[in-house]
Amino acid sequence: MKRIKDISRRDFIKNSTFITGAATGAGLFVGKNPELEAATSTDETSTKRTTALAQCPYCGVGCGTVIVSENGKIVSMRPDKDHPTNYGLQCIKGLTAAEPIYVDRMEGDAYVRKDVWAEWNKPGHGNMEYISKTKNAFGDELFDRVPYKVASDMVAHKVAHFAKKYGGNSIALYGSGQLTMEGQYLENLFMKGVLGSNTIEANARMCMTSAVTGYFATLGSDTPPLAYEDLELSDMVMHFGHNARESHPIIYWRIADHKKKTDIPTVIVDPRWTGSSQGYADINPKNHVHVPILNGDISFLNSMAHVLLKDHDDVIDWEFLKAHVTGWKDYIKEVKNNYSPEQVQDRMGSDKVTPKMIRDIAGTFADATRMRLKRSKMDQKGDGHGGVIIMWGIGYNQHIHGQHNVISIINLLTLTGNLAKPGCGPFSMTGQPNAMGERFTGGLTGRLPFNQPLKNAKHRKHMAKHWGVPEKNLIAAMNSDNRGMAIGMMERANKGEIKAMFLVYATHIDLPDQHNLVRPGLMKSFNVVQEIYRHAPNNLFADVIFPAATWGEVDGVYISSERRINICQAGGTPPPGCLPDMDMVIDKGKEIADLLGLDGNKIFPWGKNKHGFYDAEQVFRSIVEASAGSDTDLTGMLEVEKVDGTGLYQQLIDLRGVQWPAPTYSIAKAGGSKRRYMNQEGVWKNRPYGYFRTKDGKVHMKLCKQDYSQREEITKKLMEFGVKKDHYVIDNMDIIKKARDMALTPDLPDEKHRGKKWADIPKDKYPYWLGLGVVYEHFHTAKSNRSPTTRRLVPEQYVEMHPDDAAALGIKDGDQVRLITRRGHYQARAQVGTNSIVRPARNSVPPGYLFSPWNLSVADSADPKKNKWLVNAVSSRVFDPVSGQVDFKKLACRIEKV
Ligand code: SF4
Repeated sequence: MKRIKDISRRDFIKNSTFITGAATGAGLFVGKNPELEAATSTDETSTKRTTALAQCPYCGVGCGTVIVSENGKIVSMRPDKDHPTNYGLQCIKGLTAAEPIYVDRMEGDAYVRKDVWAEWNKPGHGNMEYISKTKNAFGDELFDRVPYKVASDMVAHKVAHFAKKYGGNSIALYGSGQLTMEGQYLENLFMKGVLGSNTIEANARMCMTSAVTGYFATLGSDTPPLAYEDLELSDMVMHFGHNARESHPIIYWRIADHKKKTDIPTVIVDPRWTGSSQGYADINPKNHVHVPILNGDISFLNSMAHVLLKDHDDVIDWEFLKAHVTGWKDYIKEVKNNYSPEQVQDRMGSDKVTPKMIRDIAGTFADATRMRLKRSKMDQKGDGHGGVIIMWGIGYNQHIHGQHNVISIINLLTLTGNLAKPGCGPFSMTGQPNAMGERFTGGLTGRLPFNQPLKNAKHRKHMAKHWGVPEKNLIAAMNSDNRGMAIGMMERANKGEIKAMFLVYATHIDLPDQHNLVRPGLMKSFNVVQEIYRHAPNNLFADVIFPAATWGEVDGVYISSERRINICQAGGTPPPGCLPDMDMVIDKGKEIADLLGLDGNKIFPWGKNKHGFYDAEQVFRSIVEASAGSDTDLTGMLEVEKVDGTGLYQQLIDLRGVQWPAPTYSIAKAGGSKRRYMNQEGVWKNRPYGYFRTKDGKVHMKLCKQDYSQREEITKKLMEFGVKKDHYVIDNMDIIKKARDMALTPDLPDEKHRGKKWADIPKDKYPYWLGLGVVYEHFHTAKSNRSPTTRRLVPEQYVEMHPDDAAALGIKDGDQVRLITRRGHYQARAQVGTNSIVRPARNSVPPGYLFSPWNLSVADSADPKKNKWLVNAVSSRVFDPVSGQVDFKKLACRIEKV
């Protein structure tokens, strides 16, 4: 693939000044960036500076960034001023993304545990099922360095052995929303097509799958229907469990800017008063409302529907309901009877959320909907824009009733016609930069690429043919049980059902209940890790480690939260021996396919580029071709290539991304489909559905209930997981389904022990709520805490506490404390109130609630085994039975001074 042209130091400095204008507005001509088209360097110095275009490697906003490299080494980032997501702005994480790339980096030969290597070198390779006895430790003395090909060959033989003896489903893969889409696609092909395994999971499971399954249940497609530019068309924005200012800064700044210009009302539903609420209130405190609900979101949304039906009947879109929706009659009956603001008070979790507050917010919602109606001359079918957008982030998805949370948002928007029009609708924001790619390529249990399940026989045949694999492998995957998804995979590892596990560009520490679930599971399987850092948690449990290339060093694409497929070019050269993850999947896939009697070269036919890596654009072409006729059809890009001669990656460069679907020449040429449904994606011959993607082409409304009448007795059972030995959720699905249907929490605090000094609280009592989440300066757990800039800004693990709780417990600001749940503990510094000496001190928790970020989980020690900050030591494994997501926000904890 052609890289962005070299530029001279003189041009670079000149043009850097040009770009420092930061936000340059929407009028720029995309694709004509003089900075990127400058002449090749004629500088006498030996520094060869190059630039490449990419999507930022961090959050799901997907800002365009320019990677600057010197002599093949990445040295800095600059915001892409021509990218329609960020127009020359980026947050601190994106701007410093170059810093952690070479810190603590692994390179050279593969690492193989000494005892594993010794066993393999015995006659006949000894015990093929041998796994290391030295796991839970990492150090040079524990590993032999083995050439890549030799180690890869050993892995292939062992995995093929397990697959033949125990079946393909005994092999697991934990992948990543940070891997390129091409890599994700090939992982899925390898696991399902070659091995016939259904045990493929990814960190996207803990991030967005409640949104995925919520969209499927209602709209029939995993499709965020909006584009970012809808934010600037809206008349009201609500956020649920979404501290957007910290988790998706550029999007937050766009909404805040819109609020400043047009004074739209904003609502944030979150137990904490966050920087997001503060920012909106700073713009106009009179039209921003903070709703400090704890777990009562479903009741709150149903209650808003109740008020709208009773008091604002004019904004109910009766015609739309009758023509394009099912289930609405039952929904209306139920919310009218059982969800008045007075009836839901027991589920709000805060006496601040009063019936009056709910009525006022419903009134504001109605007014915003009326503004849209006014623009379309009071005709719900009119072409006016605006109305209400409801956004949510991973916190809202992370509930044992996460899917029901999402359905409840879509119910309310459907009821009022705030759907399938510009400027209104549901908008989920992903955490991972390419979680959308994982969803697109179906790299999860039960899924195939292009929004289709394994059980769709027609699509299964199509994919088997396109992949060149026997259909029986996909049928085997479909019939293989991985009912608990990511958590089930780990529970099955504990039971000895998982024989080998690949960990690719994902860390196990993002999973809950580390000490009772995840790490014991990893001790039992043969683990193959692809990793960039020497001191990474996965290395503790690896039998084999392959040093990997990372973002910025590999070609491929990412998909942002608005369905925009962005180019990610290789800007730097990987250190010696570090291969792209995709290449390692292909190499192993080929060899294992051959060992299983398939033709590896036929299944993985792709050639290499001039840098010696597999050509990612060829894989992308294969994806585009296979998408023909699907809900995510991209074949218009092939038409553009045919007619205009512009290659596929070049189209992504010129347009700064294409929003899927792009099924025709004209749609692809215009940058894809901005919005979805009701023909908004344009005229699309053979479009495979009606107005919506469900079988009947309608939105499926379904009332989701919340009922606390049996809360204590059910939650008591949930609190046994992670405590009782050999007690698995996958063997007790009925209890989590019941908890989901009543919209409960995984834990319940012993509230009557609040108000005591910490030393007086009995050791078996857990009086406080604890939530885990994100902090602005860091992204997840791997990279940003290795970046000196962001590390300096937020250097250590902390826990936010309310001043009243701190006083009652006898804990002072800055004290070192230990947070303890039934399942484990971690250490943090007490950050009491927003005047704390402990950074960042920008959010306020309500009394009885504590909060820590995940991001610094392994930042306290170079040896992750010794780290004291691992927050997922305390979390619960209980998950949503459909989406597989767990609740990291409502844990019962005790706090002690260290
Ligand atoms: S972290 Fe997110 S908001 Fe910040 S620059 Fe990257 S993509 Fe943009």
